Amino acid sequence: MFEVSCAACQASFEYSPDDYIHLCPFCSAGFIIDPDEGAKDLIGDHYIIPSNIQKQNVDEIFEEWITKRYHNPSSIKSEFTILGSYGVMLPYWVVSVEAHTFWSGHSAKKNLYPGRVRDLASGFLKEEGRFSRRYRWAILARKSPKEHWGMERLHHPRETVMVDWEGFPLDETMGAPDEGVKPIYESKLPFKYEQATDIAVASIQTKESSAVSRAKDQINEYHRRMTKTKVGTLYEHRTEIEVVGLHVVHIPFWYIRYSFAPKSMFKFFTTARERRLLVQGYTKAVLDAELPLNSSDKVMTNMFIAGTLGFICLTLSVFVNSLFYILFVIFMLVVILSTWKIISREKVDTDNIKGNENQEPAGG
Ligand SMILES: [Zn+2]
Repeated sequence: MFEVSCAACQASFEYSPDDYIHLCPFCSAGFIIDPDEGAKDLIGDHYIIPSNIQKQNVDEIFEEWITKRYHNPSSIKSEFTILGSYGVMLPYWVVSVEAHTFWSGHSAKKNLYPGRVRDLASGFLKEEGRFSRRYRWAILARKSPKEHWGMERLHHPRETVMVDWEGFPLDETMGAPDEGVKPIYESKLPFKYEQATDIAVASIQTKESSAVSRAKDQINEYHRRMTKTKVGTLYEHRTEIEVVGLHVVHIPFWYIRYSFAPKSMFKFFTTARERRLLVQGYTKAVLDAELPLNSSDKVMTNMFIAGTLGFICLTLSVFVNSLFYILFVIFMLVVILSTWKIISREKVDTDNIKGNENQEPAGG
């Protein structure tokens, strides 16, 4: 291991060469070491959001969540078990920006005189517009967003746009806090290890320059997709992004692992595996969850019922009326479609399992 002395209190401690900002375990100061000259540069803008969840609250959060979702609340106690939980403070580069977008394009004009032939040139309407937005865009300051489950798709857009990046507008995405509680960003405090209250603090691994360029790329793409929803054919899109602030903030998250063992007939169709819940530590919002019954469980039930009915109809077609054979064919089609759905679903499942590797941090 490598040893370094703190730039603020001079105490020496072991550090990881993977870290970009080194955090002193004694005084909580953060500093960057110049790789060429070895000079240490203290950082100032480092904050932490306190966690409103402790280990003992995990049960009630899970219960509240599952009670709203499960069709049979009285059997929750006997069918669901919490297998474990842990909290983690993850570092984010929070890039405050102002983004200004200009766009232009063509939309098909409505035909005001039905029955009359329109010429192509007047059939389209040129449209253009501008809009500006402010964001506090959060970029994970860890080398891999797959380290913890559910981190790579947190973006909550107000628009109906497809999002395939890992950064997000902080305030919207982290969920609304309870009434009378400050919004998440305003509750930040200068970083101190003591404020993490026994939750593991993940170190800061990535540079601010990469966070800023990723945030800019993502916002640019986000605005481009938004403008595409406004117009039939988008010709031009320009987004200018001005960075007005940059902080590193440790944000609390909680993971709850649970198992589901139904007593009803569903027990024949569910696979015994563990499921996860990602909870925001400050707002207590459930950000992502693996549901007790996923779609392939339901499709499996479907397949079983259709198969049984199909068999009954086949029997009836032999002994009662040959018209039942038509029903048999229909039920068999349902079975075949269900099977196909499960097979194509399986590919997605193995992908999820890959993200399973990292579960609980050692000693966390
Ligand atoms: Zn120190």
